[in-house]
Amino acid sequence: MSVKGDMIYARASDPEIKKRGESGGAVTALLKCALEEGMVDCVLGVTRGKDFFDAQPVLITDPETVAETSGSIYEGTLLLSKYFGKYLEGAKGLKIAATLKGCDVMGIYEQAKRGQVDLDNLFMIGLNCGGSTTPSMSRRLISDLFMVDPRSVNKEGMYKGHLHIHYDGQKKDLSIPKIEEAGYGRRGNCRRCTMKIPRHADLACGQWGVREELVGQATFIEICSEKGAKLVDQAHRVGAIEVEIPDAPCIRARKKREEAVLRLAESWWERDFGPLQNSRERLKRMIEETGRCIKCYTCVEVCPTLFNNIEPYMTAFPGKVPPGFEFHLLRYAHVADSCINCGQCEELCPMDIPNALFMHAIQSDLEALYGYHAGEDLSRPSMAIMEEPRIAGPARLEPGSGNIWPMKGINTREYDGSSG
Ligand code: SF4
Ligand code: SF4
Ligand code: SF4
Repeated sequence: MSVKGDMIYARASDPEIKKRGESGGAVTALLKCALEEGMVDCVLGVTRGKDFFDAQPVLITDPETVAETSGSIYEGTLLLSKYFGKYLEGAKGLKIAATLKGCDVMGIYEQAKRGQVDLDNLFMIGLNCGGSTTPSMSRRLISDLFMVDPRSVNKEGMYKGHLHIHYDGQKKDLSIPKIEEAGYGRRGNCRRCTMKIPRHADLACGQWGVREELVGQATFIEICSEKGAKLVDQAHRVGAIEVEIPDAPCIRARKKREEAVLRLAESWWERDFGPLQNSRERLKRMIEETGRCIKCYTCVEVCPTLFNNIEPYMTAFPGKVPPGFEFHLLRYAHVADSCINCGQCEELCPMDIPNALFMHAIQSDLEALYGYHAGEDLSRPSMAIMEEPRIAGPARLEPGSGNIWPMKGINTREYDGSSG
């Protein structure tokens, strides 16, 4: 019987799922089992949309279609946290298993604190994540640095500090630090992200720590909750997954890789936040950059620590474009110490305003002062405003529904932080 804290290697027993999955298909097998055994009503996952660069969220109720979410989908900036409140009635009365990156899970915790999600009804299958790139950045990177036509790429992956691409029956790889030094690569927030292994989910799944000869054929799973243990045990009991215990050197190797990634993230903190240390300079830069704002409200709508209610922002600053700096101050105040550095407000800003950079800088200062860690558990923030009514519009789950939200993509590739 598994318990919280256990670590295992797992792979799907079904040869088809094993073949289709990125790392032995363990995650797909777990999701399928959760549906088949009636542990959940549906699965929220991500599948490939129109092309390699297009990832789409899907809601699945038929266990036979879970395999459509197999394999990593690498491009894009999708954040699933708000979907539960916005489209799934906060998982109230509906049990959902979802595959989630660290920032998705963090956003879910912030949503749960605000009464938007019922965590008891969620099975959070966390995926290790080294960072994401936008589809447009990926296309440029593949074309400029790999000198390959992006349309010919059919697979990407991060392994041992390199980005690997597969195209036209060939393979190429480049060092990720070199890619980033050249001004390409992951989003700024991902470079700073320290939530690479999502241990605040029920399970944390990925490649780090997988024995060399099993790479690509097994998933390293860290069991992070009793709920996660229950799912693994059930999947093992019904023969959906095969399980092996990792040995000590592999666990040490996993730790080493995680430490390398975290060191790299720290270096990006210094690079990004260094120029913002002086408060006058920071304020000056914020005022300058936000001067381009066209008041589209996207940064308000997408933020998982803000409600769906954009009314205060619409009514407080009528008829002014760009809005005064107070518009942004209001958002900074609302988010304050709760920013989870998901990058949505920056990535989706049509005016390329570095909103996440500013917000993350504010949050990290407040964390240093007050010790509140956003998105890691259900503890309440010391400053951010939380007492707002639930506005989420209800949506009905149709059995067998497929791609219900064609949106921007997701990237859950692991980056081990090593340069060679
Ligand atoms: Fe999210 Fe980026 Fe962190 Fe991955 S690296 S969990 S996409 S913020
Ligand atoms: Fe994400 Fe931006 Fe909200 Fe922070 S402020 S949680 S980066 S959307
Ligand atoms: Fe302004 Fe950008 Fe926010 Fe739109 S997303 S309101 S342009 S800062």
